Amino acid sequence: MRESTVPLACGHPAPIPPADGPAGYVILSTRRVAPDTAERAPGTILPTGARICYGCADALQRRDIETADAVTVYDATGNSGYGRTGWRGNVTTWTGGYLGTVIGRSVYRNGLTGSRMTALTVRTAGGRILHGRYGSDWSQAVTLRPSRSAR
Ligand SMILES: [Zn+2]
Repeated sequence: MRESTVPLACGHPAPIPPADGPAGYVILSTRRVAPDTAERAPGTILPTGARICYGCADALQRRDIETADAVTVYDATGNSGYGRTGWRGNVTTWTGGYLGTVIGRSVYRNGLTGSRMTALTVRTAGGRILHGRYGSDWSQAVTLRPSRSAR
């Protein structure tokens, strides 16, 4: 990918996006401490609205999934069909970066609405166990949280 000479807030060069493609950077919706991957001094605060590269955005999510009360990820395994359990796969950032391994999966039908649901149990690289569920009919984005006993 071609790069411009104007760096992003993380210190990495901004890519020049194709006319019909993604922007090539992420805009922070809240202020964050720069990730270890950033070309910035440790502890540097990136303000709300700062533009950072995909690699640094993934690094922030890898940090979040080990510490945050809730983190939104993508189920990269895809739907595994009704009644299947124990299907393993990965959850990722929206750009596809690894965030954790699916160690439990259950697909079921919501008795009230009739919609198909997927429940996941995920183990992070740091060993944290998180749970989440999503409506299989409309999205693979899922918000994971620690189990009550682990809080
Ligand atoms: Zn960066």
